[in-house]
Amino acid sequence: MESKIDILSPVDGSVIRTLKAADDTEIGRTVERAAAAQRRWAALAPERRSEILWNWGSLVERHSDEIALLDTRSTGKVLRDSRAEARRGARHARYWAGMADKLYGQELADVGERLSYSRREPLGAYLVILPWNAPAHAFMARSSPPLACGNSVIVKPSELSPLSALRLAELALEAGFPEDVLQVVVGDGRAGGALCGHPQIRGVSFTGSPPTGRAVLRAAADTFKKVTLELGGKSPIVVFPDADLDSAVRAAVQGIATNAGQICAASSRLIVHRDVAREFVDELRRRFERVVVGDPCDDATHVGPIACRRQYERVLELIRGGVADGGSLVMGGGRPAHLAQGPGLYVAPTIVDTGDRRLPIAREEVFGPVLTVDRFRTEEEAVALANDTEFGLAAYVWTRDSARVLRVLHALEAGVVHGNSTLVMDSGLPFGGFKSSGLGGAFGADAVEGCTQTKRVTLRIGAGALPQYWAGV
Ligand code: NAD
Repeated sequence: MESKIDILSPVDGSVIRTLKAADDTEIGRTVERAAAAQRRWAALAPERRSEILWNWGSLVERHSDEIALLDTRSTGKVLRDSRAEARRGARHARYWAGMADKLYGQELADVGERLSYSRREPLGAYLVILPWNAPAHAFMARSSPPLACGNSVIVKPSELSPLSALRLAELALEAGFPEDVLQVVVGDGRAGGALCGHPQIRGVSFTGSPPTGRAVLRAAADTFKKVTLELGGKSPIVVFPDADLDSAVRAAVQGIATNAGQICAASSRLIVHRDVAREFVDELRRRFERVVVGDPCDDATHVGPIACRRQYERVLELIRGGVADGGSLVMGGGRPAHLAQGPGLYVAPTIVDTGDRRLPIAREEVFGPVLTVDRFRTEEEAVALANDTEFGLAAYVWTRDSARVLRVLHALEAGVVHGNSTLVMDSGLPFGGFKSSGLGGAFGADAVEGCTQTKRVTLRIGAGALPQYWAGV
């Protein structure tokens, strides 16, 4: 039976579009086409691959408003943010265009009897599985490196938000990518699972939740695929009393309210020094009250709805549990008063003070606009609290003491740490998680490592006879 996927609006619940989901036969054909196209793609001159990626980036930039609207309609992301993300996505393609002809191997300087060197080669047909929280940006960020390195790519976007993916693949063809080098498979977890288990897929970049990450790793194990996992987070924002508190408060608001908290690196745990905790939380509440929740297409809106009903129910359930467990609700806790009625999946920015208790709400990834508050007295205590989590994606530290900021950043068990700064992502620098937050990394050298394999090449150049191991043979 043909299976369909309805793309629903989180603003009013209406069906935006209905798409056919790929079945096993179609998935099999897509992988075969990807494997064949990869050989042609890798055989192209690197500078041609570079040109095509660059063209793609330019086209995506030119169509960024249209792409942004597709993401906003399907996920509720504020349109302003969707536009910025689509443009950042275009920059990833351009950055990696520059990398296509800069893949270096190694060579020993003293060659002696042999000349040996190593080459970085593509893996083959490469799979990119994406979540729904930043669809166009993640598509560009995760598919540009493997394409630049000579892989063909199949993208399996989230079933909630495949519309921008389909458009980005059309633009790729327009930019000059040969047929089948970049394909999109529409489907849910079943399609993702079938792709992960396919023997002709040689590498996987998965972005999503830790439980699905585990399933991906298991499915990939049978055929020893190279796997990169970008998973969830429960990132701390640690505020010392000597910090620029005004900037730190602003960063705390932005860090958890942006995209309604549906960001893997959201700063969802405030760990604040006892001397400034009351003042800091009071100011945080005042700022949160000024955050506008509502229509994501309105330029005055800061926070749109949660992307889907399942996630919305989960956020509300976690808040209820946090309060039932003994956390005290500082503000928020449910739908904003002005949106109390109606179908939109809105959640007000919420602060739960956990006091001295290590509550589940301060441990589990909520993926909503929910900040927990914890307090510390000493630097050691701050580091211990910050590291007391299964996750290790991002961390943020605020202090004017330059030695302390570095000391703490070095002590934190997280892959992307920021001193006196909000989240920064750079195509050229690693982005990945420690512990349950991931394996390998996107961007920079880590991305090249994740989508290539090393071959050592040896040529005997000495004029002498081959070494004799077995006398008489
Ligand atoms: P999810 O794990 O439910 O789904 C992610 C993708 O995996 C979807 O495309 C889904 O269809 C697919 N999938 C589901 N089951 C599968 C299976 N068995 N095999 C293969 N694929 C399968 O995650 P989500 O709810 O879409 O996204 C939210 C999660 O993503 C959060 O945990 C968030 O922190 C994480 N995330 C991480 C990063 C990062 O860079 N670290 C970035 C964005 C989101």
